[in-house]
Amino acid sequence: MEKEKGKIGVTTENIFPIIKKFLYSDHEIFLRELISNAVDATQKLKTMASMGDFKEELGDLTIRVALDKKKKTLTVSDNGVGMSAEEVDKYINQIAFSSAEDFLEKYKNQANNIIGHFGLGFYSSFMVSKKVEIITKSCNAELPAVRWVCDGTPDYTLEETKRERRGTDIILHFDKESEEFADDARIEGILKKYCRFLPVAIAFGKETEWKDGKSVETDKDKIINDTNPLWTRKPVDLKDEDYTAFYHSLYPMTEDPLFNIHLNVDYPFNLTGILYFPKIRNNFEVQKNKIQLYSNQVFVTDSVEGIVPEFLTLLHGVIDSPDIPLNVSRSYLQSDSNVKKIAAHITKKVADRLQEIFKNDREQFEKKWDDLKIFIEYGMMTEEKFYEPVSKIALLKNTEGKYFTLEEYEKLIKENQKDKNGTLVYLYTTNKEEQYSFIGYDVVMMDGYLDTHFINHIESKLKNSHFVRVDSDIIDKLIMKEEKHESKLTEQHQHELSQVFEGQLPEGKTLFSVVFESLGETDTPIVITQSEYMRRMKDMSQLGGAASFYGNLPDQYSVVINANHPLVQKINEDKEKKCRKDLDKFTEKIKPLEDNKKELETANKGKKEEEIQQADKDRIADLDSKITEFKDKQKEVLAGFGGKHKLVKQLIDIALLSNNMLKGEDLNRFIKRSIELL
Ligand code: ADP
Ligand code: MG
Repeated sequence: MEKEKGKIGVTTENIFPIIKKFLYSDHEIFLRELISNAVDATQKLKTMASMGDFKEELGDLTIRVALDKKKKTLTVSDNGVGMSAEEVDKYINQIAFSSAEDFLEKYKNQANNIIGHFGLGFYSSFMVSKKVEIITKSCNAELPAVRWVCDGTPDYTLEETKRERRGTDIILHFDKESEEFADDARIEGILKKYCRFLPVAIAFGKETEWKDGKSVETDKDKIINDTNPLWTRKPVDLKDEDYTAFYHSLYPMTEDPLFNIHLNVDYPFNLTGILYFPKIRNNFEVQKNKIQLYSNQVFVTDSVEGIVPEFLTLLHGVIDSPDIPLNVSRSYLQSDSNVKKIAAHITKKVADRLQEIFKNDREQFEKKWDDLKIFIEYGMMTEEKFYEPVSKIALLKNTEGKYFTLEEYEKLIKENQKDKNGTLVYLYTTNKEEQYSFIGYDVVMMDGYLDTHFINHIESKLKNSHFVRVDSDIIDKLIMKEEKHESKLTEQHQHELSQVFEGQLPEGKTLFSVVFESLGETDTPIVITQSEYMRRMKDMSQLGGAASFYGNLPDQYSVVINANHPLVQKINEDKEKKCRKDLDKFTEKIKPLEDNKKELETANKGKKEEEIQQADKDRIADLDSKITEFKDKQKEVLAGFGGKHKLVKQLIDIALLSNNMLKGEDLNRFIKRSIELL
C-alpha cells in the first residue's frame, strides 16, 4: 500500500488541547487505558480461538510495558488480535475521534467533572505525548502490518510496515511536561494501582536476584499483576485464610478483618466482589473510602460515595461491576438507577451475612460484637432497610459482659424496670468505673463512639421505652416507682440547709444547684447528678452537629440531698443550735419590711407601670435592697456555719469523689479530714 496521508475525521481543530487539559484530572490514567485496550485485544483473540475462528497457536500472550528513558518513550505491546489498515482507519481515525467529538460536545461545560470515559481511551495517550505510534499486525495472517503516526494534530500518516507476530505496539513519545513518566518507579506505581488484578499477565522489567552480593536482572519477566484475583473465584474453593491473606494484600499493616462477604450477582446487574468488616475503633474518618471499585478487573476509583450507602463506606474490600457507568460525573452516578439497585443489593447482602453469622455462630458474633457495633449502629441509624433486619440481631452488652438482643434484653428487664407509668427504663453507663456501682437494676454498656446517637435512635424505635444514664439521678428516681417518703425537713429548713451546703460547693466553671429529696433513712445522704437531657446534648455536641450549642454551656450538676438521712438531720439540729438566734434576729428585721412592701404592692395592684407614683417605686426598691441585705446576712451566717461543720464538707466531698470530681489538694484535704472524723 501507498503511504497514506490524511486528516482525522474530526472537525474540532482544537480537540487535542482539550484532551490534554481537561479530559482527566489524572494524567496517569493514559496507561490504564492503553493496558485495557491490550487486555481487550488479548481477550478477543482468546474468544476467537475458543470459537474456532482463530486456529493458530496462541503462544505467549503476556502484555509488555517497556520504558526507554533516553528517548523518553513508553511502549505497550500485546499479542492480541491486532488491526489491519482498514481497522486502524475505522477504529482509530473514524470512530474513536468521532466519539471524542460527541463526548466533548456533550460535556463541554463540565469537562472538569469528567471522571473517565473508556470510549475515549486510546486518545488519552495524547494527554502526555507529543507523538503516538501504533505498529500493529492483524491476527488475519494474510494482512500486512501497518504503522500509524500522529503528532497531536488532526494529521496522521498510515503506511505498511513489518511486525513479526500478530499484535500491537503502542509507542508514546512523552512531551516535555510529561517527562516525569519516563521513570521506572512511576510507571510501576501506576501499573500496580490500576492494573494489579487484570486478567492477562503484564510484564514490566525483569525479575532480579542476588548474585555476589548485589541485585542483578534475570531474563525472567517481572509480572506485576494477579490475573486471577480472589473475588473472581468461587467461594466454595476458598478458605478463611485465603480471604484474610487477600485482605492483607489489599491493606498491608492492618489488623485481621472481622468478617467477609463474597458478592456474586449476575441479575439484574453484574457485580462481584469481596467486602470486609474491618476492625474500627476510633479513627472513624480514616476508615472510610477503602473500598476499591473495579470494572472488569480494571481499577477505577477508591472513592465510592454515592455508589454504596454511606455506612458501607466503612467497609473495606473490592467491588467489580461493568454495570457501574464510569463515563459520567459523580452527581449523575448517584442518581443512576443501576447504581441505586446496586447500593440496595449490597445493603441487603451485608444484612443477610450478619444474620447468617449470628444464627450459625453466635459465640463468634458476640466475641466480635464490640468491634462490629460501630458499623452496625451506623447502618441502623442511617438506613431503614438495614435497621429492619439487623435490629433483630443487634446486641446490648450489660455491665457483667453478657450480650442480649434487643428482644432478649426487653424480656430481662420487663419485670423490674418499669416505672409507674409503664415506661420501660433502660439504664446505661458510658463508663463502668466512674459511673456505676451495683444498684440492683441491670445496666447496659454504652461506651462506643456512636452510642449517644444510637440511644436517641433506638429510643425513637422502641415503644414505651426510655434510656437513662445510671448516674443521672438518684437510684429511686431513675425508675420512678409508686412509694414515696415524707420529708422530715420543713421547707424553711431545706432552704436554710441549701445555703449551708451551697457555701461549701466548689467554685469555677461548673455550676451546682442544691435540691432536696425525701428518701429512706438508709439511702445515700447526698449524690451529684447531671440531668440526662443536658448530658446527652453535651455528649452529642462533641460529635458536632445541631446540638453543638449545648457544648458551650457550663456543666450543670444537681447536688441531691436526702432530707431524711440521719446525718442531714444532725446537721439541721446543729444549725438550729448554732444559728437559730442569729437567723431569727434578721427575720424579725425582715418581717416589717416585707409587710410594708406588701402593703405598697397591694395598693398599686392592677395599675400599669406608668401609673404607679415614683415615690412608691422608690420606696419598694429601697425595701428590696434592705431585705436583700438582711437575707445576705442570714446567708453569711449559714455559710459560716457550713464552713466550720466538718460533716458538711465531708458529705460534699464524698459525693464529688463518687463522681470523680474530687482532685488534687481537695482530695488530700478530704483524706485528712476523713482520718480526723474516724
Ligand atoms: P474502546 O477501548 O472503548 O473501544 P479506545 O479508544 O480505547 O476505545 O479504543 C478504540 C478502538 O481501537 C478499540 O475499540 C479497538 O478496536 C482499537 N484498539 C485500540 N487498542 C488496540 C489494541 N491494542 N489492539 C487492537 N485493537 C485496539
Ligand atoms: Mg479502550
